[in-house]
Amino acid sequence: MLDSSHLLFPSRFPELKRRQLETIQVNLGYRCNLSCQHCHVDAGPNRTESMGRETVEQVIDFMRGFPVSSLDLTGGAPELNPHFYLLVEQARALDVRVIDRCNLTVLEEPDQAGLAEFLAENQVEVVASLPCYLEENVDGQRGKGTYESSIRGLKRLNALGYGKAGSGLELNLVYNPSGAYLPPPQERLEADYRVQLRDRFGIQFNRLYTLTNMPILRFGSLLQSQGEFDRYLDLLRGAFDENNLNNVMCLNQISVDWQGYLFDCDFNQMLDMPLAHAQQARTHISELVGEGLDGAAIKVAEHCYGCTAGQGSSCGGALNK
Ligand code: SF4
Ligand code: SF4
Repeated sequence: MLDSSHLLFPSRFPELKRRQLETIQVNLGYRCNLSCQHCHVDAGPNRTESMGRETVEQVIDFMRGFPVSSLDLTGGAPELNPHFYLLVEQARALDVRVIDRCNLTVLEEPDQAGLAEFLAENQVEVVASLPCYLEENVDGQRGKGTYESSIRGLKRLNALGYGKAGSGLELNLVYNPSGAYLPPPQERLEADYRVQLRDRFGIQFNRLYTLTNMPILRFGSLLQSQGEFDRYLDLLRGAFDENNLNNVMCLNQISVDWQGYLFDCDFNQMLDMPLAHAQQARTHISELVGEGLDGAAIKVAEHCYGCTAGQGSSCGGALNK
């Protein structure tokens, strides 16, 4: 894989400062049952990094001491971490909203037979990646057979009440472009997804989130190998909208890596740009007091234009909806 991190510096991206912490996003490890082309984590079946029990308990302790409103679980496939179930149950017991970033195909893994039911019982919000409503594009990006598996997963979640009005079980889908271009307008694409998935499969969902591909790790390497890296970065810079600066997700969120170290966001985690706190090179979740982060400088570089281009992009989709 070609390293693109050195191409993100120096940067003239505007300064950002932290506000009140609301969401803790935890990366439970880089193991995944898929190896998608656009993956900014470089996750896959052979990765062994996985958050251990002690660190999971430190995350739970942090939530006991500091009232975050949301716990956002990501990976790899977060469900493949053996402590996923414990973390979800403990967070729900603390009345913290839990989000599972689910690739849908993991619901069919042999050791995940009761996963969908567990998510429903614990009222976990499912944010499910489905990069297109067409089979050819999904299989091209994620691997053969992933589209059909994802459709079966969505039907199973619907059968449990997910995505249905009044159920309280939220099912949101995630789209990302299959190449070096910006996502189309979120609302328009959401309407297309709704019609396509309903008419062809009877599938319902709540919202569609459009995400911009980040020029880092696997996607950054792909861009370099195609000679497209500079053009893509120029596209992101050229589409900068300063209104998005007020809504980028790092303002109210921290990202925790599988070893418990803190970052301003998942992208900075992948670039090994640790959160600046109390003049330490790195801060561990066990050392953090939530209020202490207010006003702290956020580490930025050229990839940040991926969050501010056009309609903006975050784990909750477009910023300028
Ligand atoms: S994009 Fe998601 S599903 Fe695909 S390899 Fe990466 S973590 Fe796994
Ligand atoms: S890449 Fe991370 S640090 Fe940069 S603007 Fe986006 S969320 Fe903030």
